[in-house]
Amino acid sequence: DMPQRYALIIAPADAADPREDFADTFTPIDVTAPALSVGELSTQRGDGVFESIGVVDGHANEVEAHVQRLAHSAELCDLPAPNLAQWRQAVAVAAAHAPAGEAVVKLILSRGVEHGPTPTAWATAAAATDFSTVRRDGVRVVTLDRGYDLGAGERAPWLLLGAKTLSYAVNMATLREARRRGADDALYVTRDGYVLEAPTASLILHRGGEFVTPAPSGGILHGTTQLSVYEYLESRGLTTGYATLTIEDVMTADAAWLVSSIRLAVAITAVDGTPLASDPALTAELNRFLLSPR
Ligand code: PLP
Repeated sequence: DMPQRYALIIAPADAADPREDFADTFTPIDVTAPALSVGELSTQRGDGVFESIGVVDGHANEVEAHVQRLAHSAELCDLPAPNLAQWRQAVAVAAAHAPAGEAVVKLILSRGVEHGPTPTAWATAAAATDFSTVRRDGVRVVTLDRGYDLGAGERAPWLLLGAKTLSYAVNMATLREARRRGADDALYVTRDGYVLEAPTASLILHRGGEFVTPAPSGGILHGTTQLSVYEYLESRGLTTGYATLTIEDVMTADAAWLVSSIRLAVAITAVDGTPLASDPALTAELNRFLLSPR
């Protein structure tokens, strides 16, 4: 990871707080100094939610979709509803301090300090990893067992499968397993054989003139980048939809991508060692769109 370059602590305002200016709830901090209490539940238990927002030359992309998903994740975790106006302003302040070029603004909302009365919240801005090579060359994926069936998200909401929680140890372990198996990334597959998403990205397929992505029915995160890509494709008169997809659907697709806020669109070039068709011109076009101010 690149070093953090800017961070601010946010004193979370009540969702109903009608203020228009939240500047006095933001405290910039020294990123080289300790900032969190040892009782902090985000560090003890990963008990909190977060967002990573792509920033290009100081412009934060799809801010509304990200703050809305932060609120959705908070609701799934029974955290106090975030004040969206305050979070939009926090994004603006952090983005204004982001380095030029591609950067990332992270938002973190934690349950707070053990036995404490309020959540802890902060935002950071840092340079993004350079993903230009992988955007050009794509990724080889392996399919990995997600350990539950397609209905688990709706049947067991306490598993928080549709929330972007800070508990990403499993997602990071999945990426390490993928690399051990000689691949660059992983595709999660349910016990009953359906593909879901990658550990940090959504899946989009192009097949038979239509673009499809797994339906976000509680078991996966609804990707902001997937939503953006769909808006773009629809504006070009192309057909998009949600479906229940199998590994066979991925293998036989005309092209397949993993899409996410910072890495953007990368082609899947192989699944479990079998090469996949790709569409380099459309991949480049999608990334030109995703790098433009949105
Ligand atoms: N799915 C998971 C599990 C993720 O962690 C992410 C983002 O990190 C995504 C999908 C893609 O979401 P977005 O496009 O909003 O970055």
